[in-house]
Amino acid sequence: MKIKQLGEFGLIDRIKRRFDVSSGFVGIGDDCAILPFGNSEIVVSVDALVEGVHFFLDVDPYLLGRKALSVNISDIAAMAAVPRWAFLSLSLRDMEVEWIDHFIDGFCEVADEFGVELLGGDTTSSSVNVLNITIMGENKRGESVKRSTAKVGDLVCVSGRIGCSYAGFFALKYNIKGADRYIEAHLNPTPRIEEALSVKGMATAMIDISDGFIQDCNHICKQSGVGMVVEWDSIPFCDADFITKHEMLCGGEDYQIIACIDRKYKDRLIEMGHFSIVGEVVEGMGVELIRDGKREKVDDCGYKHF
Ligand code: ADP
Ligand code: MG
Repeated sequence: MKIKQLGEFGLIDRIKRRFDVSSGFVGIGDDCAILPFGNSEIVVSVDALVEGVHFFLDVDPYLLGRKALSVNISDIAAMAAVPRWAFLSLSLRDMEVEWIDHFIDGFCEVADEFGVELLGGDTTSSSVNVLNITIMGENKRGESVKRSTAKVGDLVCVSGRIGCSYAGFFALKYNIKGADRYIEAHLNPTPRIEEALSVKGMATAMIDISDGFIQDCNHICKQSGVGMVVEWDSIPFCDADFITKHEMLCGGEDYQIIACIDRKYKDRLIEMGHFSIVGEVVEGMGVELIRDGKREKVDDCGYKHF
């Protein structure tokens, strides 16, 4: 059997079944693993950017360095933790050294902005460029917010707008003019640490949007054993007019935060202004949309590697 028949998440499940996590740590399945030590816990994630899959050689290496670290920090945000340390593994073609210098310029800039220290890594030659980052963050023990703990009745909330990154990707691909704002959202995303930390103590579950709004809502649903009802008119869609709203919900790489928040905090949440309330957590499975007063089941969509 080929990997494609299993799918990306089927493959991850197959690997997961081979390991019994006896340490009591939270392992495979969330944005980060959670390793409690004393009064704190360390959260850890690893993500690769692969030439030909995530970027092409004509990308600005400085922006690539920014994005590589930013999308990793986004997984720390998804746990409502504070980013701290990184390891950088470079598998490289024989590139111009200036290309790497610019990549590191971008990486350093984001590291400084978010207080991340580079503590190590690895360097090898390769037939395509692969940039692999391990990121570690810190939290007080028990305070990291998982995907698996959403409760029926919670508000489903999202930071920022949905779909601007996909609009940027589309604009680059089809050379659409006047789309600089969206291209910026795609090439230079901001990890939503501030927004995630602002709802710590209020949020029951969180994820960052890498695969797409619908698919990432479905990850929370599946792992929490719940459903979600989302109001079409409440979704903060991107204002780009050259892609469809369906593409915005499925496109991915928004790196916004989806948070399920106890409804007793509704007034505080609205006052803080970081999140839009788009729906609620219900009994059931998967995401349903309410559109023109009608409930409709949405097919899962979004980025899958296989
Ligand atoms: P994210 O989109 O937040 O980066 P992924 O979809 O990449 O998360 O991964 C989902 C979960 O599966 C994570 O907990 C990740 O650590 C785990 N995972 C992915 N690939 C592997 C693998 N090859 N071996 C073990 N765990 C994996
Ligand atoms: Mg994630």
